[in-house]
Amino acid sequence: MRNFIENMPKAELHVHLEGTLEPELSFSLAEKNGISLPFETPEALIAAYDFHDLPSFLKIYYAGMSVLQEESDFFDLTWAYLEKAASQNIVYAELFFDPQGHTTRGVAFETVITGIHNAQVAAQEKLGIKSKLILCFLRDMSADSAMEHLLMAKPYIDWLVGVGLDSDEYNNPPVKFKEVFALARKWGLKLTMHCDVNQKNTLEHIGQVLDDIQVDRIDHGVNALESDALCNKIKARQLGLTVCPVSNRFVVQSLTSQEIRTMLSKGMLATINSDDPAYFRAYLNENFIALQEEGNFTKDEILTLAANAFSVSWLTEPEKTDYLHKLSVFSDTRAE
Ligand SMILES: [Zn+2]
Repeated sequence: MRNFIENMPKAELHVHLEGTLEPELSFSLAEKNGISLPFETPEALIAAYDFHDLPSFLKIYYAGMSVLQEESDFFDLTWAYLEKAASQNIVYAELFFDPQGHTTRGVAFETVITGIHNAQVAAQEKLGIKSKLILCFLRDMSADSAMEHLLMAKPYIDWLVGVGLDSDEYNNPPVKFKEVFALARKWGLKLTMHCDVNQKNTLEHIGQVLDDIQVDRIDHGVNALESDALCNKIKARQLGLTVCPVSNRFVVQSLTSQEIRTMLSKGMLATINSDDPAYFRAYLNENFIALQEEGNFTKDEILTLAANAFSVSWLTEPEKTDYLHKLSVFSDTRAE
């Protein structure tokens, strides 16, 4: 099963580039940029990763960003993820980035997006992995700041496929960003938002992303299972849910394998993703393998989860058909 998962062609739809910053790269960038880290070694940094909920994770995540200063740093970060992803047979990825995490430190928007974009182009050429970019707003910052960053992105609109919403959900409901997301949609961008696991007012927030924002996808969204009305709406609109098993384990002490199986049985389009793999110490294959072991998933269920990711991706229809065909060829070859 491990071998099957590792060799299966996959898409990843929920991965934060800043969350792919490996401690080794962090140390080399810190040295280059003359920044001193409060740890002696990469191993000591990893040992200090102590998350038990969203705020405790975010504190460490934002501190980690300080080493990212120059365009080449964003190139190196993105390249390293795409190289790792290609080695795991990920053939397509949709990447989140958090520009406000950088502009608030004095790093220009242009520096961030140019470094990321150039690495995406290089990786497609040299590694054969295709990727698209999603601009995420930090929901614990103001709607004005989000709007300001959307306007900053306008000259680079062709480099983006969509916008998202992440960071601390507590008292930061989706409707706070209604205007920003309406403008993004007007510009032709796809919309997604995080509905993190077990947040205050989670069902109300999931209702808002469906009705007020009218998203094209939901990130996490596991708590929707508590409401038949929400599940029916998600299913009727064929919205994808980007579930992140290892990430969830830090909050709910389970890989949510039961919840994922329930989604599949209800015909909801669940997908498996790594979220912040450098911090959670698990890339996409490790997420699939751990999930399969916890929930004893069959090959057919694993294939359905992989196919869902291509189906609900923001690729063009011919591209989706092409990748789904590759997945079915893989499955046929493995069945013999
Ligand atoms: Zn996330």
